[in-house]
Amino acid sequence: MQRRSLFETTATLGLGALAGCALPGHAAKDAKTPFDVPATYVPIVGSDMVFPVRRIYCIGRNYAAHAREMGSDPTREPPFFFQKPTDAIQNVAPGTVADHAYPPLTRNYHYEVELVAALSTGGRNIPMASALDHVYAYALGLDMTRRDLQRAMGDEKKPWEIGKSFDKSAPIGPLHRVGRTGHFTQGSIWLKVNGQTKQNANLNQMIWSVAEQISKLSEAFELMPGDIIYSGTPENVGPVVRGDVIDCHIDGLPNLSVKIV
Ligand code: MN
Repeated sequence: MQRRSLFETTATLGLGALAGCALPGHAAKDAKTPFDVPATYVPIVGSDMVFPVRRIYCIGRNYAAHAREMGSDPTREPPFFFQKPTDAIQNVAPGTVADHAYPPLTRNYHYEVELVAALSTGGRNIPMASALDHVYAYALGLDMTRRDLQRAMGDEKKPWEIGKSFDKSAPIGPLHRVGRTGHFTQGSIWLKVNGQTKQNANLNQMIWSVAEQISKLSEAFELMPGDIIYSGTPENVGPVVRGDVIDCHIDGLPNLSVKIV
């Protein structure tokens, strides 16, 4: 009864309902579970299918000027990665300004605009030369960060998960398949708050390219279909407060906008 009503809700609402929520998963009809847990999907532009998200990987300090503003030396650091929980996804439809709730516990809530790569195949120890073959699609995303908590935990040599891996910390636009857009190795990436430019860089300024990120990640984890990778943010991250409107852009993708509420 409950599962049927969830399914009907999904079918009735269609893709438009993806903004701001996750769709119910497809548990087997006779699965013996005491309750349903929703799965996370991202819409695919030009398709009636949706992309099932398995894991969200994020690379840290992947633009030299941003690494410097975070207090590290970009020339000597190997790439490092962290994860967000899958249900951190907040789907944002192009042409809308989605409400994004200011999260609890922080007094320094930061934006980070990022290119996101979505994988349809995976593997271990993937060579760089074939790494991009695993990318199915790209999207524009925000790696929202409770900077005060991230810094405080880092200072104490504790995991800074609470600063990065919280509810709704990963707003994302719809996925654009590689066949329609090609790969994103260069192009403008920018972010504005209330119309004022805050971040403004070029994708070719990444320290580790998307291909290198896939290759490096696959040394540490077996990558799988459904994995998505937030590829890092340029310099000039900064805070937002309630009422602010964030508008972000990558050449070749529709803009992504959220309002902090
Ligand atoms: Mn980031």
